[in-house]
Amino acid sequence: NADMALYEAKDSGRGRSMSFSDRMRIAVETKRLLADALLGGLERDEFYCVYQPQFEAGSLRLSGLEALVRWQRPDGTVAPPSVFLEMAEELGVVERLDQRVLEQVMSDQARWSTLGLAAPRVAVNVSARRLADPQLPQRLQQLGIRPGQLSFELLETVFLDTHNPVIAANIAAIRSMGIEIEIDDFGTGHASIVGMLQLQPSRLKIDQQIVGPLTKGEKQGTLVRSIIDIGRMHGIDVIAEGVETADHVRLLTAMGCNYLQGYGLGVPMPEAELRDRLRSGDWSTPAGTGTGC
Ligand code: C2E
Ligand code: MG
Ligand code: MG
Ligand code: MG
Repeated sequence: NADMALYEAKDSGRGRSMSFSDRMRIAVETKRLLADALLGGLERDEFYCVYQPQFEAGSLRLSGLEALVRWQRPDGTVAPPSVFLEMAEELGVVERLDQRVLEQVMSDQARWSTLGLAAPRVAVNVSARRLADPQLPQRLQQLGIRPGQLSFELLETVFLDTHNPVIAANIAAIRSMGIEIEIDDFGTGHASIVGMLQLQPSRLKIDQQIVGPLTKGEKQGTLVRSIIDIGRMHGIDVIAEGVETADHVRLLTAMGCNYLQGYGLGVPMPEAELRDRLRSGDWSTPAGTGTGC
């Protein structure tokens, strides 16, 4: 049993001094078990997505949803991307996770519309590998995406590679299908602003590492303010991630940030819960509930 072996491999490292080669052997073995479990999980369809709400600053009206991938293990536990995303990249299967999430989003959207639930646009994360996949336009065309239904969150680092003809063609195809483009984790990469602007994104997402310290002082606010200014000057909306406190909400709103996303306003949740909240319009987080996994 792979799960048990994984557990034992980890546990055997505790409280004992081990030689370097023992530790190496265990690290290699643990990695192999994770790889096997992940590939098996893809075969068994154990990956799905949760949804985190996004709000318009000021009115705090629901403005969007972000789909975030999760892994439901055979033992019932749910793993977040930090456990498996790197391995999925390494194994070259991350684009299969992305495709799985996109298919779920589209079938959930069809269900919401059947139920008469008004849901906003859904943002999905697109890995660098998927964005560089020559088959991407074809895969997307098969899904029958309606304009305005989706946006794709691309990492800032992707834009270091816009001279890649496949990526350029894929971005053109994405746009022609009426899918909006957002720059995720903005402010943490090293892409040029000029390169970023060429992509005409609809939104910049300020990374939570930049938003988090905002309330700690004047200096921390400078970066957020300059990102909002860049957005305003170029007609690009700005959304802050990692909005955790009432102070974050107040400061970001005063600075002119357009949209807010974070545990302080709404945590990621499974589709069944989202459906209830779309119905009730209540996004408040009951004390003691989790963060979507
Ligand atoms: P991201 O796209 O920047 O997503 C935001 C992450 O911050 C999510 O973590 C979310 O749960 C978390 N978060 C939301 N509000 C707060 C907050 O107030 N404070 C803090 N500290 N964190 C908050 P999650 O779900 O663990 O996802 C981590 C990363 O994994 C994502 O970062 C994204 O880069 C990647 N990812 C998630 N889903 C997918 C997917 O379907 N495909 C691909 N390729 N990557 C994905
Ligand atoms: Mg994202
Ligand atoms: Mg982000
Ligand atoms: Mg991130």
